[in-house]
Formats: sequence, C-alpha cells, structure tokens
Amino acid sequence: MISLVLERARIVDGTGRPAFTTDVGIAGKRIALIGDLSHRDAHRRIDCRGKTLAPGFIDCHSHDEQRWQSDSRFVSKLSAGVTTVIIGNCGRGSQQSVDATLRAIAHERPTLNVGMLHGLAAVPSAGDVRDACEQGAFGISDDRRVARDTPGAQAALAAALVEAREAGRPLYAAHLRDYGTGVEDALDEALDGARHAEVALLCEHLGARDRARGSAHRLLERIDRARASGTPAYADCYPYVATWDYLRDLLPPQLHVLPDARLRETLNDPAFAATLALALTARVGDRWAHITIASVPGEEWMDLCGESIEDIARARRLSPARAAVEILRAAGGAVRTFDRSLDEDDVATILAAEFTTIGSCAPSYALDTGVYGMAHPRAFGTFARIFGRYVRGRRAFDAIEAVRKMTSLPARIFGLRERGTIEPGAYADIVVFDAETIADTATYARPASLSVGIEHVLVNGQVAMSRGELTNERAGEALRAGG
Ligand SMILES: [Zn+2]
Ligand SMILES: [Zn+2]
Repeated sequence: MISLVLERARIVDGTGRPAFTTDVGIAGKRIALIGDLSHRDAHRRIDCRGKTLAPGFIDCHSHDEQRWQSDSRFVSKLSAGVTTVIIGNCGRGSQQSVDATLRAIAHERPTLNVGMLHGLAAVPSAGDVRDACEQGAFGISDDRRVARDTPGAQAALAAALVEAREAGRPLYAAHLRDYGTGVEDALDEALDGARHAEVALLCEHLGARDRARGSAHRLLERIDRARASGTPAYADCYPYVATWDYLRDLLPPQLHVLPDARLRETLNDPAFAATLALALTARVGDRWAHITIASVPGEEWMDLCGESIEDIARARRLSPARAAVEILRAAGGAVRTFDRSLDEDDVATILAAEFTTIGSCAPSYALDTGVYGMAHPRAFGTFARIFGRYVRGRRAFDAIEAVRKMTSLPARIFGLRERGTIEPGAYADIVVFDAETIADTATYARPASLSVGIEHVLVNGQVAMSRGELTNERAGEALRAGG
C-alpha cells in the first residue's frame, strides 16, 4: 500500500542526471514507485507541481555531537532540507563507545538521521578504532593541530588508519594542521597519510585563510593529483567567508589546551601579557577589523558581541592585540569569533570542484539559539545558501550538481546505503523545494533565521517539516555503517 504520493514534482534524483517530472510513491520508510501514480490508491497526496524533489541533504560535517542530547529536533538543519547529519568530525570524540552513543541517539528519537565518525584523541590507542568501526562508525576523524606536537602521534595515526581499513571503514576525515600559509604542506601531509594506509581522505572545511588566500586552485590541484594516482580524496566546505573560531585560537598552541582558570592566571602576568600582545600583532597583522566577537560566556560580556576587535580596542584606547588579551583575561577562553579570513572566489572555486561535498561544521540550533551572542549563520543557512548564492547568484554550478554534492556524493564517501538518491527501494529521505526561491536568510547579525523556499522535508517516509513548521514526526534513525 502506498502511504504517500508526492505528485508531479521535478525530480532531481541526486545522481547528477537531468531532471524529469513525475510522481513519487512512498510505502513505509521507503520509496516504492516512481512514475505516473495518478490512478493508484494512496493514504495521502501532496501536490508538488512546479517544485523540485530531491534526496534529503546530508550534512557530512555537523558538530551535532552534543546537540542530539539537548534538542533532538535539529530545527536549523531540518528546516534547510537536511535529513542526515554526520557527527564526530574534526577529531571530536564521544565520551561513550560508538555503540552506546548510537543507542542513546536512537532513544532520543531525533527528527533526522544521525551517523558518526570516530573522533581520535591526540594519541589513539590500539584496538579502539577496530571496536568503533565494528560498532558502526563510518570512519575516523582527527584534528591535526592537536596531534602535531604530541610524541608518537604520527605513528599512532598511521596505525589507526590501517585499523580502520582492515575493519572495513576506510575513511579518514582530517582537520588540517594549518589552513593559513602552511595549508599546502598540511594538505600533503593528510593526503600522504591516506595514501600510505590506503584509505579515502575527506579534507574537512577545505579553505585557504589569511595570507594563503587566493591559493584554492593549488589545493584542488593537489587533491586532483592524489585522485589521479588512486587515492580517493574529497573535501567538504561551507559557503561562507568567515570562519568560526575561539579567540584563544590566536594564541600560541601551548596556550590552547590550558584550562580556563590557568589561562586567565597566565594572562594576569603583565610581562607575559605584553609578550603575548607582540606575538598576536605579528600573527594577525592589520586584520583586526575582520575579527568580530560572536559569542561570550555570560550576559556581562554581551556588549562585546558583534563588535570587531579593532572597534573594541579603539573604544578602550588599547592596541587591538592588547584588547584581545584583555578580553581573554576577563571573559576567558570560551569567547568565540567570526573571522573573515577566507576569500569569496576561493570558496566558490572549492565548492565547485566535483569532489567537494557540503558540511555546515556547526551544530543545529532552535530559533532561540540559547547562546550569549550569536551562532554562525552557517548553522541555519548552509544548504539553502548554496542554491541562492552559488547556483542562482554566481552560477558556479547548476542545481543538479548542487543536489549531487549534498546527496549521492556524501552517501558514497561515507558508504551510506540506500540514501542520497531518489530511486525505488531507497529510504524516503526527501526534500521538496522551490528552485527559484530557495535561499538562506541567516546573517552574522541575525543568524537565527530559517531558510526560505523549502516546502516539505521527509525523513524515512514521514513528513518531518512542512513550510517551516515541525510536524510531530520523529522518524530519524541512528545510522550504523554496514547496517
Ligand atoms: Zn575542523
Ligand atoms: Zn568541524
């Protein structure tokens, strides 16, 4: 029995092939029939004339590691057409085993599907990776910044990658050691690691920051060369020029890991603070106007939000570097920034590469974001912005290619079975949208704003959202690799 027919939609099936117009019939969790279903009985019909029907988008890099525990509705993602999020990118490990985490996620009955990578600690222990992969992790991830100064980390990573391959999950998602002037070397390092272990590489949020701006072509050439010589290499990217960092990330690496109280204590030493200000000046140069305070740890610092470090410094009659040190000393290491450190043409170039998939690198939020200050607009706008800004605006690629980048491509990278395409037998993870109007509305000043042009979002055959309104369906599943 057909439970639902989506009628007369323009179908962009996720594979990259041209669109065609017909009906899609759903039975239970899956797509049952594609074709003229006007004479078939169905419990429910939704008129989709003039709209585009595509596989639900896959956020291959979500940082919803904590979010599913606090708010499993995933409003900012679901409303943008996302039906699956991957967690555990950038080396974000789980406190529990992969099995326990996935069972806990299933227990929360999320509105969308959640799959996970196994985030490696600085020095992964033997056996760990095998367990994680056997329990359903889709691959492993790490943060090369953490590993770079840790003795034994390189060898341990190499062993972990081999372990992942042997466990049948040959995917390595890497947050590079450096996205600035050292980004080309950092990318080579990750590609080498993948090649030696014979695993696929997903380079997380590929980009060229600060003084490396303009070098996107060289990064893509490196990935192309690796692919040509047999290493499956991919990148993910978000469609924004501002990175979302911690202010403390500007400090020398040895200060990144200090607990908050220790950090503030260290900054209380006037001589040290002065030395640090010099180092910061050397690092940031004249870019202080591009770094804006995004969020702060408490209400008392709220007036800093939305202000650039340069403006804050001017008001306090300090140098920008001294102002940054002062903010850290007073408010601590949780202060987050938007840093307009990327180049718009680079972003478009990277997004357009055939091996680039889309990842928000941001957790989901409700409209009341619950933070002191602002979340990055990419938490709300990433997927719709691809259509509004890069398909219709810059014409960097067409809508069919945009859909492929968000659906069958990540499904292939992660080995997500029976998802990412519209075909009989596939899970009915579906988004129906207006290709002429789909766009993001989230801005840096007002990030908590839903995208427009998205009509319906179905997860496992159930309508989870219609015209921006959540239904009560919570049909998402905890996805296990191989399951
Ligand atoms: Zn990262
Ligand atoms: Zn990330």
